[in-house]
Amino acid sequence: MTDLLQLEAPALRDRIRSGEVSAREVCRTFLERIDSIEDRIGAFLTLRADEALKDAAKLDERITRGEDPGPLTGLPIAVKDIISTRGIRTTCASRLLEDFVPTYDATVIAKLKQAGAVLVGKTNMDEFAMGSSTENSAFHPTHNPYDLERVPGGSSGGSAAILAADGVPLALGTDTGGSIRQPAALCGIVGLKPTYGRVSRYGLVAFASSLDQIGPMGRSVADVAMLLGHIAGPDPRDSTASTREPADYLAGLDRGVEGLRIGIPTQYFPESLDGEIGDRVRAALETLEGMGARLEEISLPHTRYAVPTYYIVAPAEASSNLARYDGVRYGFRANPAEGSGLGEMYTTTRNRGFGPEVKRRIMLGTYVLSAGYYDAYYLKAQKVRTLIREDFRKAFHSVDLICSPTTPTTAFRIGEKKGNPLEMYHSDVFTATINLAGLPALSLPCGISREGLPIGIQIIGRPFEEQLILKTGRCLEENLHFRENRPRLAVDH
Ligand code: GLN
Repeated sequence: MTDLLQLEAPALRDRIRSGEVSAREVCRTFLERIDSIEDRIGAFLTLRADEALKDAAKLDERITRGEDPGPLTGLPIAVKDIISTRGIRTTCASRLLEDFVPTYDATVIAKLKQAGAVLVGKTNMDEFAMGSSTENSAFHPTHNPYDLERVPGGSSGGSAAILAADGVPLALGTDTGGSIRQPAALCGIVGLKPTYGRVSRYGLVAFASSLDQIGPMGRSVADVAMLLGHIAGPDPRDSTASTREPADYLAGLDRGVEGLRIGIPTQYFPESLDGEIGDRVRAALETLEGMGARLEEISLPHTRYAVPTYYIVAPAEASSNLARYDGVRYGFRANPAEGSGLGEMYTTTRNRGFGPEVKRRIMLGTYVLSAGYYDAYYLKAQKVRTLIREDFRKAFHSVDLICSPTTPTTAFRIGEKKGNPLEMYHSDVFTATINLAGLPALSLPCGISREGLPIGIQIIGRPFEEQLILKTGRCLEENLHFRENRPRLAVDH
């Protein structure tokens, strides 16, 4: 049944809907695959194998009765453990929420259920989505299927790794500064950060609310396009969700790139860029040119301020959002010594509940927001954010899309950057700007390094132009045949 593991999601869905294969059979096949690799990958924090099989069996009953359970019928999906799932533990990979079970579903989860998808489990991540390697999980690291000694990227590392290992056909991630795109690039899969407001954030545990977006991850552009269509859309429960109806992102994927103007920002190809990454991305761009796109050098002059700006704005918002974990309302509570007061309870709860990176962000955030430093840091960062946004707005007068590498390096070794936060933060140089500007961007694999590690290209569009981005991604994908480079993960040890 290995071919079921390889099918694109729309084809798999069609086979289930037509009764050619049962939802239960599909679910069982993927669960067996997970079972054979999970001890080496460590992608999940919660796996709900039995429940998923039951959910799939219910879908089969409905199909037998002649009903259509929806456009994602029977497709197994893995969800990053920062998205609330009713009755299923949602930990954010933090000790603080280790036993937290939400009483409601995030809007995206409600939509997935409505569409007939089968939730197989919750995936590992950096604690509260703060990190670029999944090493900041309070529970265990996740391993890159291309090289088990290396990180899968982060913070949506569990979702990216399990896709690369063919453990699920679809997954959800979240992206605040690159957390869908960077792990997608490092694991050789496809991930989209939608326009800010394209997907509801209701039920997403907040990290930095002006930057966070939930987005689709998959092994092909079509998979990502299909999933986007079923999670996007207006939501009265999230006032920042756009009222625009989503497009049919699958339709029109094959329309080609003839006449498209593609901007190549000089600042995204710095001297320090890994040579192989530059070469592969340029080769991919030439492929697009060969298909009729027009390439144009452009300048995004404020790019160099992206990382410092992001690492002021994101921690500032995080410090405010994470104030709610006080041991009273959610999750873990430390019992302080007899006779000590409420303040002591707050302090011990937070001290024991949060890991070092989360504490670092809270301290950075409260510092840049404090009286006396606010103007020098937070206010200034907001002004620079406007300049970064303007860079893109001006560039999009003369081009339709912008392309760049997704990351400055390929997957690094577990432990290599853990002790050096600044170096870790540098992983976001090409992705954080996009969140600051609120734009949509796709990462898809465009080649493999000599060491056998995937390389990602990023395609950035104007607000709400996901369709154009996906169409261009599909063109590239069809020419690059990246799937031939799937990781060789033997089923037997
Ligand atoms: N790596 C970035 C950070 O640590 C981005 C994380 C994310 O997008 N959630 O903040």
